[in-house]
Amino acid sequence: MLHWLLERLSKNRDDKLKELEKFLKVNFKDKKLLKKALSHRSFVYYKKGNYLDSNERLEFLGDSLLNFIIVNYLYQKFPLKKEGELSKLKSVIVSEELLARTVEYFNLNKYLLLGPSEEKINGRNKPSLLADMYEAIIAAIYLDKNGGINKAREFVYSTLIYMVENTNIVKEFYNYKGELIKWSKKQNVKVEFKVISTEGEEHNKTFTVELYIDNKKFSQTQANTIKKAQQKLSKEALSIIKRKF
Ligand code: MN
Repeated sequence: MLHWLLERLSKNRDDKLKELEKFLKVNFKDKKLLKKALSHRSFVYYKKGNYLDSNERLEFLGDSLLNFIIVNYLYQKFPLKKEGELSKLKSVIVSEELLARTVEYFNLNKYLLLGPSEEKINGRNKPSLLADMYEAIIAAIYLDKNGGINKAREFVYSTLIYMVENTNIVKEFYNYKGELIKWSKKQNVKVEFKVISTEGEEHNKTFTVELYIDNKKFSQTQANTIKKAQQKLSKEALSIIKRKF
């Protein structure tokens, strides 16, 4: 009975792996490499394996490959943007949040292999684990005999770059607040955000936030998180400021 169950479970896992290979458009010569890319440390320890069977070394390599691919993309895509601007864009695109959102968008989090301890504390939705898996997959594609850098790039283009070009995700994560604060320091003006009211239930709140520049009310907005409201106010303020100065 147990034997039958184990066989079925491992068959399920093989089917899942095949499904993922299809999505990645790579028929891995080394299936273990792909499995390693999906393996969080907790899964490896649970299976009483070695640290080297986890995706951490692949993530280390994938991080650099991703940077390389994105920098190339930005360089080609924006021939008129300065290095500083490209660098800001890059840091948004390769950020943990954006990688995690991409993994979720394409439903790749179901392939993450976790130990029961990590599963219990909702590791499958942890941005850092999802981002690490994404980077490790890039490295696995790159290293496999049937993969290579072009296949790795194709994967990044059809997922992360797809998100960048077809959704508002970059705008959402761009640090407008940081930009406004930098501007205020340069101009020696005081910028302040005040939360003036909080309404609604625990998981459905609306925050009203005001922006003050040099102690004068500049604007006001509402959003479901304080951070979003601050981003919105900062973005508006920057567009007005940039026109005026
Ligand atoms: Mn990472």
